[in-house]
This record gives sequence, C-alpha cells and structure tokens, in this order.
Amino acid sequence: MAELRRLLVLGGTGEAIDLAARAAELPGLSIVSSLAGRTRNPRMPEGDFRVGGFGGADGLANYLRDEGIDLVIDATHPFAAQITANAAAACDCAARPILALRRPQWRPEPNDHWIEVDTVVESAAAAGEHGHRVFVTVGRTELGPFRDRPDLWLLVRLMEAALEPLGIADGLTVVARGPFDADNEIRLMTEHRIDCVVTKNSGGDATYAKITAARALGLPVITVRRPAIPQIDAVETIDAAIDWLKARLV
Ligand code: NAP
Repeated sequence: MAELRRLLVLGGTGEAIDLAARAAELPGLSIVSSLAGRTRNPRMPEGDFRVGGFGGADGLANYLRDEGIDLVIDATHPFAAQITANAAAACDCAARPILALRRPQWRPEPNDHWIEVDTVVESAAAAGEHGHRVFVTVGRTELGPFRDRPDLWLLVRLMEAALEPLGIADGLTVVARGPFDADNEIRLMTEHRIDCVVTKNSGGDATYAKITAARALGLPVITVRRPAIPQIDAVETIDAAIDWLKARLV
C-alpha cells in the first residue's frame, strides 16, 4: 500500500479552507492546516489544524521535520509576505516541495479611477488628496496611518469587532465578513456619502464588490499594490493546486 503523505496548508484565507476540504478527498493524503491566530472566530478548516506562529523560518523548518510534513501549500493572503518568505526558506532548508496558491490581482477597467500606491501609509496620504469621506478596508492591524486624521471622515470595515478603541478621529466602524455583493456595497457607500475607497489589491471574488460599487458610483479607489514575495511555484486556482498534489501522490 502507498505510504500516507502529509500536507501542511498555510491558511488564513477562504481559499485555504476550500483547498483543505478538496485535498481531504485525495487518497493517500492527510492534511494539517495552520492559522496565525489573528481572528477570534476564524472559519475552521476540515481536518487537523494548529494555531499560532512557528517561530520564524527555522521554527517552521523544524516543524516540517518533527511533524513529518511532506508537502506544503502556502494559501495565505497575498499581503502576508512574512509567512510566505518563511515558508519558502523553511522548505528550501528542509527540502520539501512548496506551492503557493494565489488569487489573481484585481485590474482596473478602462474608466476606473485607480490610484495605485505601494504601502498602506501611502494610501492614507493619497486618501486625503482624493476624498474626505473615505471607506477604509485595509484591516484592523494596519489602521495606524489613518489615526489622527481629523481631516478625514472614515468608514472603517473590520472582520470582527475591535476590542480596543481604533483611535480614529472621526467616522464609523462597521463589522462584516465577506462575501459582499455590489448592491449592498453601493447602498453602504451612498448612505455614508463615501467619496473615496481604500483597499489592498487582495484579489478574489469575496471582496471585489467594493470595486464594482466604486465603479458604479464613479469614485476613486486607492489601491495598495501587493508586497514582493520570494519566487516559488504558484497557481491561481484550487483545481491547479489539486493537480499539483495529485502529481506528487503517484
Ligand atoms: P505575516 O506578516 O506574513 O506573518 C507574520 C507572522 O505571523 C509570521 O512570521 C508567522 O509567525 C505568523 N503567521 C502568519 N500566517 C501564519 C499561518 N497561516 N500559520 C502560522 N503562523 C502564521 O502575516 P499577516 O499579514 O499578519 O497575516 C496573518 C494571517 O492572516 C495569515 O494567515 C494571512 O493569511 C491572514 N490574512 C492576512 C491579511 C493581510 O492583509 N495581511 C488579510 C487576510 C488574512 P512565525 O514567524 O512565528 O512563524
């Protein structure tokens, strides 16, 4: 009988959840998913999971050896650059194959008004140049540059309620988890008289509706470009990731 192989899925995204469920159907493969532990109530993947950091690239390399991990798929968020760099280094060191599952980036359509910037800090500066009532969707941990901005009224969307004050001078917080639809995004932006949207270029369908809504309302979108990550084999779909796994299970 063929030996059972063990897959580590680095998660924190909807794709990671869906991948773990699909991979669990493959014979000869057992799966453990890993979450950073940032959200209090994450969607839980099918099968085994662990929560919390590994202790850098060395810690992850040790984990791969100690837990008998044969294969790694990095299905983390495109902006989670540190864990991707650690995973690439750890797999290099422990000689394990690694694949990245990355959603395609969003691209502007011809009449879209996008202002592309490299960092969230730059996005806050650009927001002040392009709007006054700004819809901010960069995530709780990256709101720093939007603090102490009495010149801006901010509609901040978070995945879960913040336990501490956000330090936003003027505005409102809404708590909601995607997927979002364009009609509701248009309603939300209209209700709050939003004149500018700030987003990371996360890609994917679940949160694309804010781009559609901004297009429909003719609003500028400040888009934070993705961070650089190491060159590792990458695919854009779960089907392609499953094919990569199948090729390694024969
Ligand atoms: P990051 O900056 O790339 O990673 C920081 C540290 O967090 C890593 O060095 C690692 O700690 C730990 N870590 C990150 N992802 C992990 C995972 N899946 N399992 C175990 N440890 C993990 O990550 P981040 O941007 O803070 O994102 C954290 C998590 O939230 C990721 O899983 C990501 O998929 C998810 N997420 C991020 C964003 C975003 O915009 N950044 C958006 C949605 C979801 P050690 O060095 O100790 O191993």
